[in-house]
Amino acid sequence: ETTGHHHTVSSICCYCGTGCGVEITTDGSRVLAVTGDGAHPANFGRLCSKGRTLGDTTGRPSARLLRPTLRLSKDEPAQEVGWDSALDAVSGKLADAIRQHGPDSVGFYLSGQLLTEDYYLFNKLARGLVGTNNVDTNSRLCMSSAVTGYKLTLGADAPPACYDDFDHAECVLIAGSNMAFAHPVLFRRLEDAKAANPAMKIIVVDPRRTDTASIADLYLPVLPGTDVALFHGMLNVMIWEELIDRDYIAQHTEGFAVLKRQLQEFTPRAAAELCGISEQDLVTAARWFAKSAATLSCYTMGLNQYSNGSDKNAALIHLHLATGHIGRPGCGPFSLTGQPNAMGGREVGGLATALPGHREPGNAAHRAEVAALWGVPALPATPGLAAVELFEAAAAGKIKVLWIVCTNPAQSMPEQALVRAALEKVDCVIVQEAFSSSETLAYADIVLPAATWPEKDGTVTNSERRISRVRAALPAPGQAREDWRIADDVAQRLAASLAPERLPAFGFVDAAAVFAEHATTTAGRDLDYSALSYALLDERGPQQWPFRDGHGTARLYGDGVFATASGRAQFVDVAWRTVSDKVSAHFPLRLTTGRLRDHWHTMSRTALVPALTRHVEEPQLAMHPRDLQRQRLNSGDLVKMRNKRGAIYLPVVADDSLRPGVAFIAMHWGGAALGGQGINALTTRVSDPLSRQPELKHAAVAVEPA
Ligand code: SF4
Repeated sequence: ETTGHHHTVSSICCYCGTGCGVEITTDGSRVLAVTGDGAHPANFGRLCSKGRTLGDTTGRPSARLLRPTLRLSKDEPAQEVGWDSALDAVSGKLADAIRQHGPDSVGFYLSGQLLTEDYYLFNKLARGLVGTNNVDTNSRLCMSSAVTGYKLTLGADAPPACYDDFDHAECVLIAGSNMAFAHPVLFRRLEDAKAANPAMKIIVVDPRRTDTASIADLYLPVLPGTDVALFHGMLNVMIWEELIDRDYIAQHTEGFAVLKRQLQEFTPRAAAELCGISEQDLVTAARWFAKSAATLSCYTMGLNQYSNGSDKNAALIHLHLATGHIGRPGCGPFSLTGQPNAMGGREVGGLATALPGHREPGNAAHRAEVAALWGVPALPATPGLAAVELFEAAAAGKIKVLWIVCTNPAQSMPEQALVRAALEKVDCVIVQEAFSSSETLAYADIVLPAATWPEKDGTVTNSERRISRVRAALPAPGQAREDWRIADDVAQRLAASLAPERLPAFGFVDAAAVFAEHATTTAGRDLDYSALSYALLDERGPQQWPFRDGHGTARLYGDGVFATASGRAQFVDVAWRTVSDKVSAHFPLRLTTGRLRDHWHTMSRTALVPALTRHVEEPQLAMHPRDLQRQRLNSGDLVKMRNKRGAIYLPVVADDSLRPGVAFIAMHWGGAALGGQGINALTTRVSDPLSRQPELKHAAVAVEPA
C-alpha cells in the first residue's frame, strides 16, 4: 500500500516462533514505523517489546557487513573483494575439498532464522550438488528433541495444536517454557483466555519461578532435568485413580501395557522426591490435567535442551494420549518453536537427519524420491553430522570447508573452547552474515554480506504450522545479497566446475520460484502444501499446513488416525535418566540458562536498540540468597564461575525466584562483557542420543569470589 511517498508492506517479525504479522512503513530508504498487523491470526495486531522496536534495528550501516571480504591465508588480513571474486573463491574451495577429500569434507551450518527459500537452496546445494548430508542448523540446538518426541509418538514432526486452542483449553500445562519472555504475544493470549475463563487451571513447571509462573494456579519448581519423573508420576496417579481414557488408548494407541509396567516405580512419592517437589502438588497436577475437559501443554527449551530431551517430550505426549487430550479444540501437546523459522527449515530438510518434505536421508525410498524431484542420479547415503558432531569433526581436521550462514556458533554452541579450536582448524571458514558484531567473523576466511529483515522476500512457518509471507520493504545496504541468491550463485559456479553427469537445476529468478519448487516436494507428504503459492498466500493470507482441497488445517489427528505405520499413536519406552553433568562436592551448583524478555540470541540485532538493552544492562549470575550467604557473597560482587570446561567472571545477584542450589544466567552475552567468552564456555556438548540436541540448559558449576 502506498500513500504519498510512504509505502507500507505486510511482513513477519524476525524474532521468535510466534510469527507475529507486522506492517512496515518506509519512505523508500528508511523504516518509518513498524506496527502489528491486525489481520494476522498469530497476533491480531499485538507486538512485544522486540517486535515493536524492529524499526530501530534498521538503517544502521555501521552495524552491517556491506562488502565481501577474503583472506588468502590465516596470517593475512582480509581484503575487500567484488562478489564475483568471492563467489569464485567459495566455489573453488568447495570443488578442491570435494576432489581432494570427498564431499563429506564439506559442512554447512545454517540457521532457524533463515527463510524457507534460503534453507531449501542450501539443502539442494549440499545434498544435490556437493553430495553430503553434512548440513545441519542451529535448530538442532532448539527444536530437535521436539521433532524426535513427535516422531516417536505421533509419527510425524507436526505440532497437532494451534493458537486458537488457548481459547478452548480448560487446563494449560506449561513445562520448561518462559512464555512471558520467549513468546510474549502468545503469553498475552493465554492471559486473555484465563481472564475470560477464570476456571482455567494453569500449571507451570520450571526450576525458576519465572514471569510465566506468575499466572500459575500451581507452580512446580522441579529440579533441572527431572521432568520425565514428573510426567511418569502424573501418569501413575492417573492410572491408579482411573482418570485415563481407556477407550481412546484401546482404539488409537499401542504400547500402553509396556509403559504401564515401567511406571510402577514412579509412585507419586518417589516421583515427587526425584523432582524435589511436594507429592500433593504432583497429584494435583495429575488430577487437573486428566479431569479437565480440554488440556493443552506448551513446552520448549526446558524440555528440549537436555540430554534426555526426547524422553521428556515423549513422556509429556504420553499424558495426552492416555487421557485423549489430543485432536480436539483446546487440547494437545504444543511445542512452541524457539526461532522464527525452525519449522520451515524442518519442512525443507534443514537438519542433517532430514530431507525435503519431511523425508529422511536414512530411507532409500525417500532419497530416491528427492533425487527424482531434483533430476540427479542419487542423493548421498552417508549419514550427516549433527551440529555438535560437525564441530567435533572440524576439530579433528575432517572438515576442510565449513560454510556458516546466519548464525554465530563461536558464541552459541556449547563447549565454546572446542568450537573455537574447530573454527581455527578448518582450512576455509565461510561466514555468510548480516551483522558485523558476530564473534564467528574472527574465524572467517571468506565473508559474504547477507541481506536481512526487512530486506528479504520469502516465507516462514510459525509454531502453529502457519506459513506466512515475509516481504522486503527496503533494498539491502551496500552489496549485501539475499541468502538464497548467494547459494544459487555458488551452485551455478560449482556445477560448471564439477560438471556432474546430471545437474540439479539452479538459476532461480526469485524467491517465488524457489518456493514453487519446494512446495512440490511436499506433495503426498503429511505436511502437503503443494497447492500453495505466493499468489495464493497474497490473496488469502497465511495458511496452516497441511493445505488440502483449498483449505489449511487448524489441528491434527481429530480422526484419531496418526502418522505412524499402523495409524496408531505410540507409547514409547522412556527409561529414567537425568542430567549428564552431575553436581558434586567440586561443582555443587546446578546452573541453568535461558532468555531475557528484551534480547534475542547473541544480540546482534537487539543490542542495537537502547530501549531493549536498558531492561538488563549486563550479564549477571542469579543465585538464591541462601547460597550467596553461605559463600559470604553479596549482590553485585564479582565471582568466578567455573567447571571442568572453563571459567567466566561476572557479578552475582540475589534472586529468590530460584530454589537453593540452582543458579541462572541469561544466554545472550559474549564478547567484551564476559572477557571474550560467553556462558557456553561452561555448557556441555553431551547430547540426547536420539535428537542429538546438546544439554545447553544445565551444567554443574562452582562459584567463588573473584
Ligand atoms: Fe516478534 Fe515473537 Fe514478539 Fe511476536 S512475540 S513480536 S514474533 S518477538
